[in-house]
Amino acid sequence: MAGFRALLLEKGEDGQQASRIAELSDADLMPGDVTVAVSHSTVNYKDGLALTGAAPVVRRWPMIPGIDFAGVVEESSNPLWKAGDKVILNGWGLGETHLGGYATRARVKGEWLVPLPDAFTPAEAMAIGTAGYTAMLCVLALEQHGILPDTRPVLVTGAAGGVGSVAISVLAKLGYRVIASTGRAEEKEYLTKLGADEVIPRAELTGEPRPMGKERWAGVVDSVGSKTLANALSMTKYGGCVAACGLAAGMDLPGSVAPFILRGVTLAGIDSVMAPRERRLVAWQRLARDLDSAKLDSMMTTIGLKDAAGLGPEILQGKVRGRVVVDVNA
Ligand code: NDP
Repeated sequence: MAGFRALLLEKGEDGQQASRIAELSDADLMPGDVTVAVSHSTVNYKDGLALTGAAPVVRRWPMIPGIDFAGVVEESSNPLWKAGDKVILNGWGLGETHLGGYATRARVKGEWLVPLPDAFTPAEAMAIGTAGYTAMLCVLALEQHGILPDTRPVLVTGAAGGVGSVAISVLAKLGYRVIASTGRAEEKEYLTKLGADEVIPRAELTGEPRPMGKERWAGVVDSVGSKTLANALSMTKYGGCVAACGLAAGMDLPGSVAPFILRGVTLAGIDSVMAPRERRLVAWQRLARDLDSAKLDSMMTTIGLKDAAGLGPEILQGKVRGRVVVDVNA
């Protein structure tokens, strides 16, 4: 029986989790109608939570983490796919309830897969990964709420992180004026090269939120949550929209309804994990059109499978810049 290599997360009798590189057999794969030779995965914030056990992301043990993968179809009994097709998978419980992308092989439901756009190599698709695809979902939400390039500036919080880096690059290419908020002053040049017109310190958004502040931006892409989100809402202009996708600073929202009822501000919730297939296809088509590949390359670093576990604590501490690709064969 054919085998494959994976990063395996196991839980001991003491409840502690540990990871190791394991040689597994195809009999270990989970049910599905498409088998994929995985070439690349990536490290998102949620992967950091799974790798460290900081939050109960993993709900099946043992688990292969990795909420994303890119690869080539080996076998398919699903009419959507045939051997040789290049595919991507983001979310759908991968690395949570279904064996994930930190492996050289995966078996999944065909409906979870989307085609790899011609514009990207598998490594580039994983440099985008869930973080980048979520950034695009945020941009689509702003557009749907009428926040267009010719309106007023858009704030991106958690700017030097994965969602933030892709959001800035896409918004800049579309012609938006972008204000980037970061806790890392040393990343100003990086953010400016991605397309930020203005870089502001994270501290401007971490104070005690007021019900309403000075109107500063028409749209927001927020991956931080908590006081940052409450402050961003309070400074959103009349009729603006805030796309909230993340919780890097916390899950709470210590704010006021004032921006909603007095300024008509919309809070748009963004979920990538269970987003319908049609929406994913649109998001990936738009990424192919609206994300500059030179900028994508500038935000990407590549590691091997054995180094993925070490990135878990780093991404949770906000130390990772841009996006990390995992070459599962390295
Ligand atoms: P990253 O770690 O790459 O980026 C998060 C960024 O947030 C950091 O780089 C840092 O940016 C900033 N940050 C970190 N900690 C704090 C803090 N305590 N206070 C303020 N800012 C902080 O993660 P990702 O981009 O992969 O994910 C970002 C968030 O989005 C996560 O919470 C993740 O769970 C969520 N997410 C949600 C999805 C969904 O479907 N809704 C999908 C994808 C991600 P800087 O140093 O520039 O300030």
